[in-house]
Order: sequence, then C-alpha cells, then structure tokens
Amino acid sequence: MRQYKRFYIGGEWRTAAAAEQISVINPATEAVIGEVPAGNQADVDAAVAAAKEALPSWSVTSPQVRGSYLRQIHEELVARVPEIAALITDELGMPIKLSQRIQAGLPVAVLESYINLLPEYAFSERIGNSQIIKEPVGVVAAITPWNYPLHQLMIKVAAALAAGCTIVAKPSELTPLNAFLLAEVIDSCGLPPGVFNLVSGYGPVVGEALAVHPDVDMVSFTGSTRAGKRVSVLAAETVKRVALELGGKSAAVILEDANLAMAVKATVTNCFLNSGQTCNAHTRMLVPTALYEQACELAINAAQGFEPGSPLDIKTRLGPLVSAAQRDRVLDYIRKGSEAGAELLIGGEEPPDGMPLGYYVQPTLFGQVTPEMTIAQEEIFGPVLCIMNYKDEEDAIRIANATDYGLAGGVWSADSDRAERVARRLRAGQVDINGGRFNLLAPFGGYKQSGYGRELGRYGLEEFLEVKSIQF
Ligand code: NAD
Repeated sequence: MRQYKRFYIGGEWRTAAAAEQISVINPATEAVIGEVPAGNQADVDAAVAAAKEALPSWSVTSPQVRGSYLRQIHEELVARVPEIAALITDELGMPIKLSQRIQAGLPVAVLESYINLLPEYAFSERIGNSQIIKEPVGVVAAITPWNYPLHQLMIKVAAALAAGCTIVAKPSELTPLNAFLLAEVIDSCGLPPGVFNLVSGYGPVVGEALAVHPDVDMVSFTGSTRAGKRVSVLAAETVKRVALELGGKSAAVILEDANLAMAVKATVTNCFLNSGQTCNAHTRMLVPTALYEQACELAINAAQGFEPGSPLDIKTRLGPLVSAAQRDRVLDYIRKGSEAGAELLIGGEEPPDGMPLGYYVQPTLFGQVTPEMTIAQEEIFGPVLCIMNYKDEEDAIRIANATDYGLAGGVWSADSDRAERVARRLRAGQVDINGGRFNLLAPFGGYKQSGYGRELGRYGLEEFLEVKSIQF
C-alpha cells in the first residue's frame, strides 16, 4: 500500500491543505492499493507560487545544464523500470509484459529523446536584421489522463523542462501513484526547488484551479474532449496558451489490394491494446464490401486470441478496464451497438467467464456498423472494434473522415503510392501505412475535436517556447 499525504512543492514534501484522500484501486482485484491527497485551491496556489518563483533562474539555464538534469532523472528512472511497470500494472491493469515495454519503457525513451534533442536544437536564429530567440513560455500546468499515465506526463515534463519552463503536474485521480514515484525520482536528482511540483486531485477542483490561475502561463492538457473544452474555456479568461491532446475514433482503411490477413490481425491487436483504452487506437476497421465476410472471419480469429486474464500473468494480452465506471461506460456502448442493429460477431455485455473480480469486458467485435451509429461516432475506450464496409476508395475516405475526431488512422495497401495518397486525405494528425511503427520523434496530435498542438520531438519542444524577435 502506497500512502501519500503530502505534495511535492518547492523542492520539499508539504502536507496537503485538505484532509480528503483519494483511494487508488487495482482494477483487476478491486483492492485499494494506495492513497493520495485530494488537493484544493490552497495546494494549487502554493504549487503555482513555487513554480513562479523558480522560473527566473531556471528559464535562463543553458540547454547543457537542463540536459544534465534530464540525464540524471533518466538514470534514476532506468533503475526503477521494473518497479514502474509493476506499479502501473497495479494502478491501471495493463498486462505486465506490455507494461514493462510501454508504460515503463516509453517514458524512459521519451526522456532520452529530449536529452538527445537539446544539444541540436537552435534556440536562436538570424532572419535579416532580426535575432529570433526561443524562450520558455513560463509556468506550465500539465494535466494528464490515466491510460498511459507516466508516458503522458513525461512527454510534457521532459519537453517543458528542456524548454526551460517550470511545471505543476496534475495526474489523473485514477492512476496518480506513478506521478508520485516520478516526484521522488526528481527530488533525488536535486532539480532546483519549484521547477517541478506535483498536486494530485480531482479535475474539476485542481485541474480547473490550474486552468484559471493567473500565474499559470500555459496548460498542456491530455484527456477527454469534454474536459479539454472546459479547460480551453477557462484558460481563455487569462489568454493562456493551451495545448489539447484529446480523444479519437481512428479508422484503419484496408484497401482491396492489401494483405488482408495481416491488416486485420494488426488492426484487432492495435484496437485491443491496453483493453482499448488508447487515444490513437484504430477502433473502426473499414473494408471493401467484397472482402467484408472474409475480414470478419479473420477478425474473429484474431479476437479469440485476446482472452481476458490477470495482468500479472506474463501470457495475458487483455487486462481489465481501469475502473468500474469505465467498464460500465463501455458496456453501455455495447448495448447501444446491438440496439442500433450492428451485428455482434463476438463478445458482448456479459462479463467474461471465470473472472469474478475485476473490471473485465469481453473482447468485442461489431460488424455491419454504419457511419451514423453512436458506436461509429463516439470514443468507446474499451476492447470494442467496429467493422464497416465501403464501396470504393472515395467512400472509404468519406467514412474515415466522418467523425468529430481526427487523431490517427491507418491505411493498408500493396501499393505504397496509393496508400500515401489516401493517408494524405485523412483528416488526422498521424497515419500509419501498413502498420508503420510509432515514431517518438514525429509530432503527435489531433485535427478537429482531437485537439490542437503537437507533442513529442522537436514539435513537442516548441509547444513550450515563446518566440521573440530582436531587431538590429
Ligand atoms: P479526463 O478528461 O476525464 O481526465 C483527464 C485529466 O483531466 C485528469 O487529470 C482529470 O482529473 C482532468 N480533468 C477532468 N475534468 C477536468 C476539468 N473540468 N478541468 C480540468 N481538468 C479536468 O480523461 P481520462 O478519462 O483521464 O482519459 C481518457 C481520455 O483521454 C480519452 O478521451 C482519451 O482519448 C484521451 N487521451 C488523449 C490522448 C492524446 O494524446 N490525444 C492521450 C491519452 C488519452
């Protein structure tokens, strides 16, 4: 049991202003595994004041100095990778093998990418008679979700620290323990007091207090479109910079010349990763009408390989959902899918056999999904794949683009020129061709209601920079 009663503020562990605690539940066992304070306005004020005080000296450190702090944090994190993986598996329910590679491995890799980027990045350039200077934007509030908790946080922390900003982090109330572990790591590395601060708590309290705070210069938010809209409205009052990484409803477009077996298997695997709780998951699979039956058969075969199981079992590929509320939300969508007339190919509302405890949902496939159905439009965030058929390439592009979201997508074709042509027409921030690998240096972010701003790599660093022109 990890019990925290204090926040990391101004380089020390300070007792939270409010007495209320939030219990952290293991979604596989439903046991309480930790407790963190529910912060309030006074906690936010203290953290923002510390970040503001630290800004003048931190913002003028050289990239070399900032890089050396990042290197120390990296070293310490690497030493704690097994602990991080186990902790996030306990908080979130992701199977341990995947957790090691993704939940613990990705944040380490992201940090390393910024350590490598810092020496190459030009913080200053000449344009005619002007010197262009890139300066840190200031005090950053980093509000993050639960699905890749340390990764989402590290993307912001690594880039903001590299840029010379100071930070107040507000992790999700469902998976906050890994953020406390990060604060311990940062503390052990002797980062100057106030450069990184941590306040846990509920979104409408701590998150909103950060979004309206006059001394916060930027809110970098990752989470639902609903909360992102609220943050954006609140931040407008003080004209803060806002970056929003929101939800998605991404389509995998499988063209008729694709390797169908490979495309279907990869799409099912992509959709079910982290029990479908992935913002850029390919949750709609678009197949040509002529190949629809065959694609459904292949998808059923692939889905049968995702038997729900204990996240601690090294063979498990599908863990529980993060919370009872999330499970109920997903079951509600499954119900809506059946009511709307979609064909339930496998899975459904019943809890999986032999799993009396835990927030498990069966891997579920819907066929005959049409674009106007709720399950084709809204983010389900569970192990549910919608299979849709299309007439021709134009029709496929139209369907792929026919949601409010625009985070990601996939195109499968034997002809890479054709695949690229289709990829260019998808209104989404990232498109993978034939299962193209995730690139930690490529900008990540959404079109439409999937948000604005980009994270990762150079584009992610620039989110945290202001641009000044000095004329000679
Ligand atoms: P959420 O919006 O409920 O919560 C995200 C964070 O915002 C949490 O820290 C929460 O406490 C806080 N929050 C909630 N209401 C708030 C408010 N009114 N004001 C300020 N902060 C508030 O989202 P979630 O359920 O934690 O995460 C799942 C969502 O995140 C999904 O929609 C998913 O697609 C999205 N997501 C997007 C990306 C991306 O990069 N685009 C990455 C991961 C997750």
